[in-house]
Amino acid sequence: MSYTLQCELCPKYCIIEPGQSGECRIRVNRNGKLTSVTYGYPCAVHKDPIEKKPVFHMLPGSWVLSIATVGCNLHCKNCQNWEISQANPESTPAYHLPPEAIPGYAMENGCVSVAYTYTEPLVYYEYTLESSRQVHQADLRNVLVTAGYLNKEPLKKLLPYIDAANIDLKAFSDSFYRKICDATLKPVLDTLVLARTMGVLVEVTNLLIPTLNDSDNEIQELCKWIAGNMGKEVPLHFSRFFPQYQLRNLPPTPLSTLERARNIALDTGLYYVYIGNIMTDNGENTICHQCGKILVQRQGYTILAMNIKNGRCPRCNTEVYGIWK
Ligand code: SF4
Repeated sequence: MSYTLQCELCPKYCIIEPGQSGECRIRVNRNGKLTSVTYGYPCAVHKDPIEKKPVFHMLPGSWVLSIATVGCNLHCKNCQNWEISQANPESTPAYHLPPEAIPGYAMENGCVSVAYTYTEPLVYYEYTLESSRQVHQADLRNVLVTAGYLNKEPLKKLLPYIDAANIDLKAFSDSFYRKICDATLKPVLDTLVLARTMGVLVEVTNLLIPTLNDSDNEIQELCKWIAGNMGKEVPLHFSRFFPQYQLRNLPPTPLSTLERARNIALDTGLYYVYIGNIMTDNGENTICHQCGKILVQRQGYTILAMNIKNGRCPRCNTEVYGIWK
């Protein structure tokens, strides 16, 4: 006998007929049982610099093993990984990499952490959770790169295993989330606060798309919300948009927009504000918010100087938010 099921993992609460999948394409009703069909079968396994995630406040210059399976519960019109995030599992080649094999594979490749990334690690939830457990048992660290669109209960089970997360805050408007991402804003804000409250090192990425989410007012509201609800020490990355997938009609984000956003964020009082996806002179440097010393100097994914000593600024002794050893 097969039954219709409701998935309670994310705020979409898909109702799934026998033999069908939810919107994320990877949670399938198999004979009345909800099955995560990509468990143990990532479609991407890469060794990356941690700066690529981007995670700037955990172990700069270290290597991370990046893993992704197909599937996502959002359908962003600008997705840069749409070829895997919006793919069907049965038509996408995959490796076999069970959770228990991940720590050994990471260490063999000189990685000190494992990132669940590229697509949406929260929808291949069981794989992310068990892999994170195994990774912690081996004394490595876990990094989550996510849109943050998940219900609270499963998140509370996963987050104790997550050391650092880069969570997208794609815009500060519900209508943007509905129109561009097929999602809503509030659950993402809840995830950001929950992750911070549960002790995860959280960094936030905001991809600025010309005319859609780049007004002074929206950027200011977003920054004020981070400062007031998460803390001024939470790093914020403004990232450059490039036209792709279903948003090819808009131009790349001009550097002036990214600089304007950064100035707004700094004026709002945020301590660590970065510009990414574009080469700049100092948009990727970590700067002491007290005395202005360059703490970590970066160019692309390369660390040119690492001046943080025991988690503090060597000049004025101010503590720097992050995991430094
Ligand atoms: S995780 Fe997937 S199947 Fe479950 S509710 Fe979300 S989109 Fe639907």
